[in-house]
Amino acid sequence: MRSLDRAARQKLDALAARSLRRELVPTRRLPHGFVERSGRRLLDFCSNDLLSLSHDPAVLDAAVQATRRWGTGAGASRLVTGNHPLLGELECALAAHHHTEDAVVFGSGYLMNTGVVPSLVGPGDLVLVDELAHACLYAGAQLSRGRLIRTPHNDVAAVRDILVRHRADHGRCMVLTDTVFSMDGDRAPLQALQALCVEHDAWLMTDDAHGLGVLEVDNPAPLKGGTLSKALAAYGGYVCGSRAVMDLLRTRARTLIYSTGLPPGVVATALAALGRIGSDPAWCARPRQLARRFAAGMALPEPAAGIVPWIVGSPERALALSGALEERGFLVTAIRPPTVPPGTARLRLTFQAAHTEDQVDALVHAVRELACASS
Ligand SMILES: *Cc1c(COP(=O)(O)O)cnc(C)c1O
Repeated sequence: MRSLDRAARQKLDALAARSLRRELVPTRRLPHGFVERSGRRLLDFCSNDLLSLSHDPAVLDAAVQATRRWGTGAGASRLVTGNHPLLGELECALAAHHHTEDAVVFGSGYLMNTGVVPSLVGPGDLVLVDELAHACLYAGAQLSRGRLIRTPHNDVAAVRDILVRHRADHGRCMVLTDTVFSMDGDRAPLQALQALCVEHDAWLMTDDAHGLGVLEVDNPAPLKGGTLSKALAAYGGYVCGSRAVMDLLRTRARTLIYSTGLPPGVVATALAALGRIGSDPAWCARPRQLARRFAAGMALPEPAAGIVPWIVGSPERALALSGALEERGFLVTAIRPPTVPPGTARLRLTFQAAHTEDQVDALVHAVRELACASS
């Protein structure tokens, strides 16, 4: 065996021994919150298609029409010929939705975070990141080559302490957090963080990937990032803020400059979905209502948005419960380290607007049965 393959094999075996090896399972997504796996139809309680817009007739129409008219790929970076006018339209709509002067669309949420942070801070600067923030906020902070400090989860007093102790020794400072935490479903204390940031001349940047369309938060941060890939049922990322900062990003963000623009059909999808969010509050309220119904049925804490974590401890237990739920017709993927801290493997349930109350009640029934049997 060549050393390359041997190295890969060794790593895979070590992961498998700890139940941490992952596999890609072919899955077709169907309308109304279902998926098809290995020839079986399952109710999907782990996608981020929170408003079930990926099969919405009007959204589909927008995607198909834009694709037929303008073609599939964007052809080049936005700075060359990949800047379709639909992108400007989407940026205007995102800025209006977030009450900011301007917005910039990137190739994904991951590319947004890894592009924005290094454009604004660098060596000699300070970056504070909540310990449970999404991996791509960490990637952005690391790429910046500023000093990265992980802060205890949602702990405003700890952030204050760190700023008091270290802020003065650094040039610029950013504080990064999710608005709704992707694996825990709780919310960040945005007002308190922003007040601290103002006091210490730091720049708060939020990632609203799981909030947009589900939970309209009053967000005081000067940099509001998010994704087009979840409630908007498209693909891509964005950040909203002042004209000056957005113009700087268009000029300097490497993940914007050196990566191809989004395909027109994808941009049209996001625009149509964003319009739906602005016009249908009852539909947008459903993921949270259903998440609360599930949590109440399980006697779990009330969720802030459409995500409910059910922490079970070991990766083995999470995998076994996930498998048992699949046998009963529910798709709930096991979430294991390093996505979550060691000892907190979990089933993470996400609720979609298209799910029905009866389906949620059936899920509660199945999960309660399994929880009793396995504890
Ligand atoms: C899902 C998620 C991302 C990744 O967004 P993509 O558009 O899928 O790359 C980024 N940040 C947070 C907080 C997320 O939950």
